[in-house]
Amino acid sequence: MSQFDLILLGPPGAGKGTQASRIAADYRIPHVSTGDILRAAVKNQTQMGLEGKKYMDAGELVPDAVVIGIVRERLQEPDTAKGFLMDGFPRTIPQAQALDAALDDLGRAITKTIVILVDEEDLVKRLTGRRICRVCQAPFHVNFNPPREEGVCDKCRGELYQRDDDAEATVRNRLEVYRSQTEPLIDYYDRAGVVARIDGAQSPDEVYASIREVLGPAGE
Ligand code: ADP
Ligand code: AMP
Repeated sequence: MSQFDLILLGPPGAGKGTQASRIAADYRIPHVSTGDILRAAVKNQTQMGLEGKKYMDAGELVPDAVVIGIVRERLQEPDTAKGFLMDGFPRTIPQAQALDAALDDLGRAITKTIVILVDEEDLVKRLTGRRICRVCQAPFHVNFNPPREEGVCDKCRGELYQRDDDAEATVRNRLEVYRSQTEPLIDYYDRAGVVARIDGAQSPDEVYASIREVLGPAGE
């Protein structure tokens, strides 16, 4: 593969964020997480953040127009010319169609959609025990991937916190939203012949090794 226009797909808690930073570093492509962009907007109290917060707190999807706008803008940045890793986008068929159209305008197309699969009860355990770095957004887990020092990010020493939407009731709704609105995207990308399914129940290192096998060498 020479161009890395990649999507990481899978339910909340599958390990997309955990894998994304390693893929982005090794393949030298920007990690584009619409969730991270939206949380930054909430923190900075921008218009978009104020509008998005009510959906995020309820575990619902932010309207397509808002999220598609974010990604269109991000694709204008020069660092995406050599590829990108979408994490948490697209989440609906209209979002996937908008991404295809934006790439088509650039003479590009998705090269691989990596789908990480994990059983539902494991997802609940992963999400309710998740802790995130306030500074670099790195994900940890109180049992499965604990930081060396409690409450402190291994990578940048930032403070770890629990996302509001990682409370169990909200997690269950997010999983339902995933099933009804996002899972159909696996078929959508299957039709384009770009899907690689990865067993996300393995350890993070094993999941990464499976992803590397699918993507092949990073090239120059
Ligand atoms: P996503 O970005 O798909 O929502 P994350 O990467 O944030 O998922 O992972 C969710 C939680 O599960 C985090 O607490 C993370 O530390 C943990 N986790 C990630 N990958 C694994 C794994 N392979 N095995 C066990 N726990 C994992
Ligand atoms: P994430 O960090 O990917 O788990 O996303 C957290 C929340 O942000 C989601 O539950 C949605 O409310 C919102 N969000 C992130 N990405 C999208 C998207 N592509 N479409 C709609 N809502 C999104």
